[in-house]
Amino acid sequence: MPIISYVPPKKNIHDNRTPNGGYYTAKCDNCGTEFYPKRSNAKYCTPNCALISHRQAVASGKTAKIEKQKAKKSKKPKLAEDGSYFIGANNVYQYLKANYDTRGQKEIIIQSLLSLVTDVDDVDDAYFFNDKIYFRRESERKYYLMNF
Ligand SMILES: [Zn+2]
Repeated sequence: MPIISYVPPKKNIHDNRTPNGGYYTAKCDNCGTEFYPKRSNAKYCTPNCALISHRQAVASGKTAKIEKQKAKKSKKPKLAEDGSYFIGANNVYQYLKANYDTRGQKEIIIQSLLSLVTDVDDVDDAYFFNDKIYFRRESERKYYLMNF
């Protein structure tokens, strides 16, 4: 069967042409096809071209940075070890909030921390959060986490 010509399947491109205007004429970043988007920053003629382009970007590592940033953002703070310290009562609270149930206790926790005297050797003067951990205030802003 001698092939005479090939007619590609008709692409369902973004086509917002109307007699009233309000559309752009653009060239697809992936395949070069002319299409007619409503947005001036549209890049692809079809969702398929957008997908192909995305897959190429992933394969070439161009999205790696974004993925990394996402991973960083969703990372929960690690449990601090005995002897870890925090600068500022609010950071202590943020740590507790991330790792324990602190619902509705923000003001109580911060006020308790701010009312501590700054003497780590005084065992009695500490903020006891639960039966596992407590905090001692070493200086104006430095709080030590202690474990039982
Ligand atoms: Zn295209």
